[in-house]
Amino acid sequence: MPKITPQPGIMEIEPYQGGASQIAGRTEVVKLSSNENPYGPGEPAIEAFRGAAYGLNRYPDTAHTALRAAIAEVHGLDSGRIVCGVGSDEIIALLCQAYAGPGTEVIHTEHGFAMYRISALSNGATPVEVAERDRVTDVDAIIDACTDRTRLVFIANPNNPTGTMIGESELERLAGGLPDHVLLVVDGAYAEYVEGYDGAAALVEARENVVMTRTFSKLYGLGALRVGWGYMPGHVRDVLNRVRGPFNLSHAAQVTAAAAVRDTAWAEKCRANNTRLRSWLADALAEHGVPSDVSKANFVLARFADAEEAEACDDYLKSQGMIVRRVAGYKLPNCLRISVGDEPSCRRVAHAIGQFKAGAR
Ligand SMILES: *Cc1c(COP(=O)(O)O)cnc(C)c1O
Repeated sequence: MPKITPQPGIMEIEPYQGGASQIAGRTEVVKLSSNENPYGPGEPAIEAFRGAAYGLNRYPDTAHTALRAAIAEVHGLDSGRIVCGVGSDEIIALLCQAYAGPGTEVIHTEHGFAMYRISALSNGATPVEVAERDRVTDVDAIIDACTDRTRLVFIANPNNPTGTMIGESELERLAGGLPDHVLLVVDGAYAEYVEGYDGAAALVEARENVVMTRTFSKLYGLGALRVGWGYMPGHVRDVLNRVRGPFNLSHAAQVTAAAAVRDTAWAEKCRANNTRLRSWLADALAEHGVPSDVSKANFVLARFADAEEAEACDDYLKSQGMIVRRVAGYKLPNCLRISVGDEPSCRRVAHAIGQFKAGAR
């Protein structure tokens, strides 16, 4: 054996598991496993993507000027504080690369998004898991868990896979309660689904220790393109722009995302459909004896009696052509995460779960 070994931490990583998209022997499946927008992007975004076919010989704008301007205009933000990445996953990775490393700690919550731990370990840092309170981020527990070695705190708000969130005063209390050397990252992958919530943008502007991340992969229906962004104080932007690779976002990604963010009518329509169908789905599941916390995102975390029942239900759904997400890897073995699909998909999955609870196997 050659003595070629990766850096410490790398082999502790469980490779990220994306939501499945296929069932053996089936051509038609209902995929409710990755929190994708069931309607896809709007027509202007598709048109912009088509237009990007011309000029493929040219390198893209490495500063993402037009995309940052579009985001800033629509969300009422300062374009100078925006950094765009290959999905918000890249922003998370850049933050860990820049601020964490061997001998440091990165805090994430009990049922927090997998990429925080993966990015921390990738950079030799120690991930520290902090307990939640009944599947809700616990601000005091996070503050208590901070040490001299803590560099980053990641919370998703709303969180995936729980769907729960904390309010703005709790976010403020968290940002204000952290030691001076700790940067708070508020992951807003689902922020657009929450009426009247800015994803912590105002908190970013008011302080020097808060970063917000956002994505085009969920509400904007562009998961295939890989576009995300962060909103941050100037000192963090200057750091990330040193480690960010040049030309990280293709021209197609930049123009399509800019068109998508400007298409506010489509975003509003998708948001309204999600709100309506999310509560319909949660109510339908509850009637079948499957409770869930009130979700603020585009999925419902369905709770079963135990892991065995959750797995049996997942198997039954698969036999009916439906893919949902097992979340045992998120320490929720008795739960299944079900994305809010279009209306026929929601009806189908609720009906099948009803049949399962009535004894079908
Ligand atoms: C889906 C998701 C993301 C988005 O990742 P992208 O890289 O932007 O596709 C980020 N954070 C959370 C919590 C998510 O669920």
